[in-house]
Amino acid sequence: MPAWDLVIFDSDGVLVDSEVLANTVLGDLLTRAGRPTTLEQSMERFLGSSLARVRRLVESDGGPPLPPDFEADYETAVFAGFRAGLRAVPGVAGVIAGLDTDFCVASSGSHERIRLALTTVGLLAAFDGAVFSADDVERGKPAPDLFLHAAAARRARAERCVVIEDSPSGVAAARAAGMTVLAFARLTPAARLQAADAVFDDMAALPALLAAHAPA
Ligand SMILES: [Mg+2]
Repeated sequence: MPAWDLVIFDSDGVLVDSEVLANTVLGDLLTRAGRPTTLEQSMERFLGSSLARVRRLVESDGGPPLPPDFEADYETAVFAGFRAGLRAVPGVAGVIAGLDTDFCVASSGSHERIRLALTTVGLLAAFDGAVFSADDVERGKPAPDLFLHAAAARRARAERCVVIEDSPSGVAAARAAGMTVLAFARLTPAARLQAADAVFDDMAALPALLAAHAPA
């Protein structure tokens, strides 16, 4: 009998190698909106955030609100970038193929974005029917809502769920949900992911970590 009820994958930065593209677009759009933001600043502040959270954080700095078409412009540019050359994170397809437990994806992106990303890299079929978006809940990461929603939908107990995340807000969300969290520090500095149960930087290490941290 498998030890985990459910393995929950974040999408951006964990399944698909999208973060440099997405944060380049975000930094450019914020800069054009009169809020100069570099790629590095965007990665540091917004990694793992829904667009609703990005807008809230930016507007909390003061000044005029972001333009009403900010979200639409962002998705148009990111989707074009995805179609032009999005890749899976190296090694993750093999990890998924080897899982003997239920698994799903739970992402701060819209359903449209998750589906396009997974389709482009050939992973959508593996996650068919097991795609959860921040669109599905009131509060996105770092609130626990999205992970708890995914667990309920898959009839999994929180203490028998493990989350694979690459952002501090995602690690915080998993913690708040009472789940184990394994943090992927490929682009994110490991120091920012220390709240996780373990930090790794190569997908080849994930199967052993899943086994080592499995509940009794
Ligand atoms: Mg991520």
